[in-house]
Order: sequence, then C-alpha cells, then structure tokens
Amino acid sequence: MHHTNRVICPVCSADHFTLKYQATYEYSYRIDGNAPGLNNTNELLPYMYDQREQKDAKQSIECKTCGTSYPCYFDKWTEGITPKMIQEAIASAYKSQQ
Ligand SMILES: [Zn+2]
Repeated sequence: MHHTNRVICPVCSADHFTLKYQATYEYSYRIDGNAPGLNNTNELLPYMYDQREQKDAKQSIECKTCGTSYPCYFDKWTEGITPKMIQEAIASAYKSQQ
C-alpha cells in the first residue's frame, strides 16, 4: 500500500501537520512636522509606514501529534508543492537534527 499523498512524521508516524511562518518586519516612518511618517497627519498609524523591510523569516512544519518541529523553507507555497516535497523537507530536517 502506497501513501503517496500523505506526509508522515518520522518521529511518531502521524500525518497531521501545521505549517508555521514567522516573519519579522521593520517599519520606518520619516519624522515630519505633524506626526511620524509622511502618510500620517494626526496620529501614528501602524500601517501608514514609509518603508517596510523584511528582517527575518522562519518556517517550520510542526507535527500536531508529537509536537516535533521541522525547519523548512519554501519561497512559494503553491499548488506546485507536492506532499513528496514536504516529506523530503521533513526528512532532511529530521536527519540534520540527529
Ligand atoms: Zn510526530
């Protein structure tokens, strides 16, 4: 029996995962006369920044059963990513943790 569409945890053999994507952004506001940021006039609005820079991004696939976290990196999460690719990412993260 082949489970080609299932991704299996190498630690506990479960097949339920969560992808976690953590990103750090730095927002810059140019100080001007009325309020920080050229787009702000009366108050500092967090989304009205002048510049945004991504500082860091971490992805991991976490097994919902045993809680093992497998660091991975996919730059695009699309339909083109197959269970096989996810399984390979988990396998290589698992090997590097040994
Ligand atoms: Zn597991």
